Amino acid sequence: MPRYKRSQSTIDSPFSTWHRRQHDGVNMTDIDVVGICPACAAPLFIADTIYNIDFRFKGKDWWHQRPYKVLAEGSDIPYYEIFYTVDESTRLREIIRFDINRIRPYSDKKWRNLSPDNMLQFLEHMSLKSHGPDCTAKDYLIRKIENNKCGNRFIRQQSYVKFLSI
Ligand SMILES: [Zn+2]
Repeated sequence: MPRYKRSQSTIDSPFSTWHRRQHDGVNMTDIDVVGICPACAAPLFIADTIYNIDFRFKGKDWWHQRPYKVLAEGSDIPYYEIFYTVDESTRLREIIRFDINRIRPYSDKKWRNLSPDNMLQFLEHMSLKSHGPDCTAKDYLIRKIENNKCGNRFIRQQSYVKFLSI
């Protein structure tokens, strides 16, 4: 964890505040995002989400990427940097664009200029298409997407129910 906060947009927990006051012999980092299966909670990927400041899509340096890389290697899951661009004129700073770099497994694979729905499809691909057929709680996964209790719009709901029911 950096000694001094780079951004004032995040609120520290009392633990983080306490930790910042300790000596140089200890350090920590937060793992930003762990994508998990909505049914069995298996970790599917880890990601660092980064505010797109200048369209250069530059993420963490190698030292700060290391804990993410080691955890991703050990769990055999991908590690991404997800850049988000917001419309600052909207009250809730709506996201209007995503850009993704895949760090692990290493490749120069980059997804550029994704719409929010493209991003959702990216996440659906990982949890429902790639993981879903082998999920240890597949019946629960199907029920969960059929019921969609949260009530938020789920455009491809029926096609995923069908895909997982075969
Ligand atoms: Zn699962």
